[in-house]
Amino acid sequence: MPESHALRRERLRTAVAASEADAALITSLVNVRYLTGLASSNAALLLPADGPPVLATDSRYLLAAERDCPDLTLLNARNVEPALADVARERGVRRLGFEAQEMTVERHAALAQAGDLELIPLGEMVEALRVTKDEEEIALLARACAITGTAFDQVAPKIRAGMTERELAVLIERAMVDAGAEKPAFDTIVASGPNGAIPHHAPGARQFEAGDMITIDCGARYGGYHADMTRTVVLGPPADWQREIYTLVATAQQAGIDAAVPGVAAADVDAVARDLIKAAGHGEHFGHGLGHGVGLEIHEAPQLGVAKPGTLGDRVPITVEPGVYLPGMGGVRIEDTLVVRSGAGPAASRQLLTTTKIVPPGELLVL
Ligand code: ZN
Ligand code: ZN
Repeated sequence: MPESHALRRERLRTAVAASEADAALITSLVNVRYLTGLASSNAALLLPADGPPVLATDSRYLLAAERDCPDLTLLNARNVEPALADVARERGVRRLGFEAQEMTVERHAALAQAGDLELIPLGEMVEALRVTKDEEEIALLARACAITGTAFDQVAPKIRAGMTERELAVLIERAMVDAGAEKPAFDTIVASGPNGAIPHHAPGARQFEAGDMITIDCGARYGGYHADMTRTVVLGPPADWQREIYTLVATAQQAGIDAAVPGVAAADVDAVARDLIKAAGHGEHFGHGLGHGVGLEIHEAPQLGVAKPGTLGDRVPITVEPGVYLPGMGGVRIEDTLVVRSGAGPAASRQLLTTTKIVPPGELLVL
């Protein structure tokens, strides 16, 4: 592991050297984990353009840091940011880059008060590096997705009338942990019947009834990496309107997946799927973006949506998750996690990570 983290720090060092800053103070805990391997609730990394980086954390995490980051200089400090600012000054840093997207006004004021350091916003420099995953990250994400599929396949046959949304959510979360997940990647969504019209419905006490469509959005976290998968099932024979919107969403999803190749604009992938839904008269029933990057966070760059910037590249994991939501009636969302790959031919351009044995692609599972 340390080698891949050292490579990530080397990429950041190159970016810092090309910026106006002499050093980067990394304070986003996710970014610290990405660059060092240390998962901590109190840590920061000083990464100078010249000289060795320093990882600061407190006594609660020091043994973990010694174990996970043997190649880093460690600093035991409760207040990690002022401690690293002192190190920066001692090292002759004058212009200290900081992560404005997560720095609070209060903490910024404390750093600025210490004097003789010019604070420079770095932009989302580390987030930009995180878009393209290395194979180690993709393997962890693939494992998270495999666990998610295993758990879904175990639990889906148990769905029956009278079970509540909350009961099903708990069953899936338990099955993911039993299958090796650290924990759920996010709060599981179970939206049944009319609740399916609310894309991020919080599972409640509603009991499933015959004829319900049930949307289940779940994912396992493994090695810090987040799986994201949505399946919609129906309890008993589907009504015509249910079959119709399911088929539409499945068709739009496949079109989106097929469009996700290296070099394509993220907004164009969204448009391919969205245009199909619009053409079927459901444009206003698909309000959210088509998908998002996944990794150490459940939602990260790139975003696939209307007018969203950026293009897809090799080794970029994304979700593709169109939906149609009919107020008062119900909804369908189908979501998979895949990795965009550069390879010969369209089939080599992506690697599907989320799969289940019991819901073939594009098929509606009737329970
Ligand atoms: Zn999801
Ligand atoms: Zn998602």
